[in-house]
Amino acid sequence: MTVQEIRSLFPILDSRVYGKPLVYLDNAATSQRPLSVLDLERSLALGANANIHRAVHSLAVDATEAYEKTRDAACSFLNAQSRDEIVFTSGTTMSINLVASCFGEAFVGEGDEIIVSVAEHHSNIVPWQLLCQRKKAVLKVLEIDEFGALQAESLGKLISQRTKIIAISHISNVLGLVNPVREIVRIAHGHDIPVLVDGAQGSVHERIDVQEMGCDFYAFSGHKLYGPTGTGVLYGKKNWLEAMPPYMGGGEMIETVRFSGTTYAPVPGKFEAGTQNFNAVPALQEALKLAESFKDDAEVLDNQNSITDYLLTNLTIDPRIHLYGVPRGTQKKIPLFSFSVEGAHHEDLALILDKMGIAVRSGQMCAEPLMDRFGVTGMVRVSFAPYNTMEEAEYFMKCLNKAISMLV
Ligand code: PMP
Repeated sequence: MTVQEIRSLFPILDSRVYGKPLVYLDNAATSQRPLSVLDLERSLALGANANIHRAVHSLAVDATEAYEKTRDAACSFLNAQSRDEIVFTSGTTMSINLVASCFGEAFVGEGDEIIVSVAEHHSNIVPWQLLCQRKKAVLKVLEIDEFGALQAESLGKLISQRTKIIAISHISNVLGLVNPVREIVRIAHGHDIPVLVDGAQGSVHERIDVQEMGCDFYAFSGHKLYGPTGTGVLYGKKNWLEAMPPYMGGGEMIETVRFSGTTYAPVPGKFEAGTQNFNAVPALQEALKLAESFKDDAEVLDNQNSITDYLLTNLTIDPRIHLYGVPRGTQKKIPLFSFSVEGAHHEDLALILDKMGIAVRSGQMCAEPLMDRFGVTGMVRVSFAPYNTMEEAEYFMKCLNKAISMLV
C-alpha cells in the first residue's frame, strides 16, 4: 500500500491544527483508528449489542461469536499455541497488573526477587513495586548503556536463587530499540525463571511469535495498533494461567458459586470477570489485520526505514540535540525518536511545534527512572506510523530547527 492509500483509511489525518495540516507524530502514545475499526464497533453497537456468554437469544449469540472470533485472531496474531492462552484486558497496564497480582500471589514470597529494566514504562514498574510491598519482595533493576542498549549480559549477575520473574519491554516507548528478548528468555529459562514481555510498542512494529520468543507472558494494547481504546490482550502460557488465582471475582469467571466455596471457570474465562468490552473487542480484529499487513508490506517498510535513517542523521548532527536510543551494529530501531535540546525546555518545544500543526509527546513519557538515568527532567518524542510521510518528517525537522532558534 502507498502512504497515500493508507492515509485515506484514517480520516482524522485530514484535520487542520491552527490552520495548518495536522502532522500526527504521537503514535507511540496512541495511534489513529481507521474507518474499518470504527465502522465495526458501530455496527456491532447497532446490530449485535447484547451481553456475551450469558443469554441464548440470537443477539447474544452474535455478540459472543464476534467476541470469541477475536480471541482466535489474537491467538494467530501472536502465534500462541492455544486460544485459551489469550485473555482480554483493558490494555497493557491491566495485563501487567494482572500478572503481577496473580502470579505474585501464587509464586512470590518474602525475600523473593523480581527483575525489571531501568527503561520500563511505569506500568511495568509500579505493579511490581506494589507486589513487592505486599509480599516484602525485592525489585532489582537491569541497566542500559549510554546508547540505551539493554545490558543483557549482566542479567546473569542479577539473577539469584530468589528470582521469581523477569519483566521486560520488547521495545521501550522512549528508546525505540528492539530489545534482545529471545536472549533474555533463553538466559531466564536456563534458571527456570519465567519472563513477561511488555509488548505495548513491540506488537505494533515487530512480527510476534510467542512460541519462537519463548516468553511466558506477552502484553499489548489495542489503541496503539489502530484498535479501540479500552481493549488489550494478555498472552499467558496455559500452565501459568492455570496455576494462577483469578484477578477479579464476578460474573462468568466461575464454575459454581456456593457460600461453602466457589470454583472457577477454566482459563481464559477465569480472568475475564464481569461484563466485557464486547462492542470494542471484536473491532480489534480489523486492527490486528491491518497491523499485520503493514509488517509485511515492502512499501511501508521502505518508507519507515527511510524516515528512520533521515531522522537518525538529522537528530545527531546538531550538538545541542541529544538523542536517546541510538542503535549500534545490527540493533533495530523503530521510527521513534526521543531527544532533549540544550537550553530549550521540552514543553516549550512541544508547544511551538503544536502551533505549527505537529503533535509530539513531551515530558517524562511515563518512564521517570529512565529520565533520571539520562539526567533529564523530560524529553520530546516523535513516533511515526505507516501513514506518516517523509515530507512530514522533513517538515518536522524544519520546524524543530526553527523552534530551537527561537528558544536558544
Ligand atoms: N508499556 C509501554 C512500553 C508503553 O508504551 C505503554 C503505553 N505508553 C504502556 C506500557 C501502557 O499501555 P496502556 O496505557 O495502553 O495500558
